[in-house]
Amino acid sequence: MENSIAQNLQKIKESIPDTVTLVAVSKTKPEEAILEAYNAGQRIFGENKVQEMVAKHQSLPKDIQWHMIGHLQSNKIKYMAEFVSLIHGVDSFKNLEEINKQAKKHNRIIACLLQVKIAQEETKFGLKPVEVTEILRQEKLNELKNIRIAGFMGMASFTDNQEQIKSEFSSLHTFFNLQKTNYNQDNIALKILSMGMSGDYQLAIDCGSTMVRIGSAIFGKRDYTA
Ligand SMILES: *Cc1c(COP(=O)(O)O)cnc(C)c1O
Repeated sequence: MENSIAQNLQKIKESIPDTVTLVAVSKTKPEEAILEAYNAGQRIFGENKVQEMVAKHQSLPKDIQWHMIGHLQSNKIKYMAEFVSLIHGVDSFKNLEEINKQAKKHNRIIACLLQVKIAQEETKFGLKPVEVTEILRQEKLNELKNIRIAGFMGMASFTDNQEQIKSEFSSLHTFFNLQKTNYNQDNIALKILSMGMSGDYQLAIDCGSTMVRIGSAIFGKRDYTA
């Protein structure tokens, strides 16, 4: 028999340090599955589609912290601005301006992670390190009082090559450490390094991750055809 969601969660929690934040990635999964994790103590959930996250936010307990981990479409930011607790996939200054504008309407400060491209594959989204520093040094960034850049997010290549994954995670960690102390303004506080998923989270933690995004190892395989 397969393990229950609560058992999977327990096993993962035991295998990661207290200093690493666990985001339970619940995309495509029904509300009952989320509630099972919630009843086992989990409060942070990640979704990659805005509509799906909004619907789940409306019907599930209000102390859940919702993280948007998917590719950002700027026209959808308004739907989640009232409640989203962290946006992982920010990859342009334009996105930051829109998040700021929508956050302001709700009198909130929304925490964001810049998505950095670390995979060698061409298909992955994200900013090159030089583009990250361009954004962080933009004078106009100072005016965005309703966002906070809280760190970086990265995804390793989809490969079995552990050495390659390790070198991609390590390079992001090195970049993060270099940038961390470089800025002295209210809306930049680089504390979070979001990297690691079901297949590679141990490696990511070894390489300095402070936040892992784990879906299938908690909820089981996703069925995209359903
Ligand atoms: C789906 C997804 C995850 C979780 O993937 P699993 O392999 O199921 O753990 C993590 N991060 C992002 C950005 C995702 O889209």
